[in-house]
Amino acid sequence: MWQVVGQSRVISLLQRSLEKEALAHAYLFVGPPHVGKMTLALNLAQALNCEADEPPCGECASCQKIALAKHADVQIIGLVSNGDSAEAKPRAEIGIDQIREMEHAASLPPFEGKHKMFIIDGAELLSTEAANCLLKTLEEPVGKVIFILLTTNDRLLPATVVSRCQRVELPPLATGEVEATLDTSWGVEQQKAKLLARLSHGCLGWAISATGDDSLLQQRAERLERLVDTIHAGYEERFAHAAQLATQFSQNRGLVQEILDLWLQFWRDLMLVKIGCGNIITNVDLEAMLVAMAKGYSLAQIKAVINSIQAAGEQLRQNANPRLVLEVLMLSLPGGSGR
Ligand SMILES: [Zn+2]
Repeated sequence: MWQVVGQSRVISLLQRSLEKEALAHAYLFVGPPHVGKMTLALNLAQALNCEADEPPCGECASCQKIALAKHADVQIIGLVSNGDSAEAKPRAEIGIDQIREMEHAASLPPFEGKHKMFIIDGAELLSTEAANCLLKTLEEPVGKVIFILLTTNDRLLPATVVSRCQRVELPPLATGEVEATLDTSWGVEQQKAKLLARLSHGCLGWAISATGDDSLLQQRAERLERLVDTIHAGYEERFAHAAQLATQFSQNRGLVQEILDLWLQFWRDLMLVKIGCGNIITNVDLEAMLVAMAKGYSLAQIKAVINSIQAAGEQLRQNANPRLVLEVLMLSLPGGSGR
């Protein structure tokens, strides 16, 4: 009945609380992006408002409305873009006005259901004023209202807010579980399911969005191709790539970190192949190439590259000169072999 996959410990905790009518009045769901925090929150809202004997049924009018985000008593609060002007930019934080509005809505009785639920998506983005305002709301519980805060990192939230919520951690799933779910529930072909499961690092939501959006895999393929080209390239080409990445970094830091993460994953896979653990690599579709390439490097060389990539990522986070950092990284790559 619960649609969240693989979080059986968390689900049974909530289920027991539901049965005993002992739900907390505020929860903090903590877990990596796309692990299922929102799905779990909506499922709990369904369980609380379901009209069937064994909630959440997923089929009654109430359950369906909640699934479509059309239930008057279940509201999602998150980043909103300010649509007033032509230069509208998404706000970087959840503002106090949103929390005040929520506070007001929470003071009214349920409109069509049995319980009200307010889901704060990306709670780490609450502005200081908004967090303080929320704190007051959490300190004065009202009946039939449940607040659920979703976050990837609860250390970015004020401790005072965290302490007023019951903390529920959603760990990443085992990749085998993601693979099996993609196969049985989404009809994804076996090889693709295996690859997406590994690339998802246990976050099913990412894997599901990748099954419906080929551009994610396409982008990965292009980045990997560039990576392999760089390994086989001379210094001139490598420096050109470093310059290009440095320019990208000034526009979008996250994008360059993503590329470095991909590099790291690739070299870790080379290491795994080298030490005879090829069965647990991430890039399963590149196994043959990894096996061929690994023959051309010593384990020490591979480890040194991994260290260099990690160091580069760390230096970029600490605002070192991106061009310099990336050039040093390019210099540390050994020459190409056995493509
Ligand atoms: Zn239902």
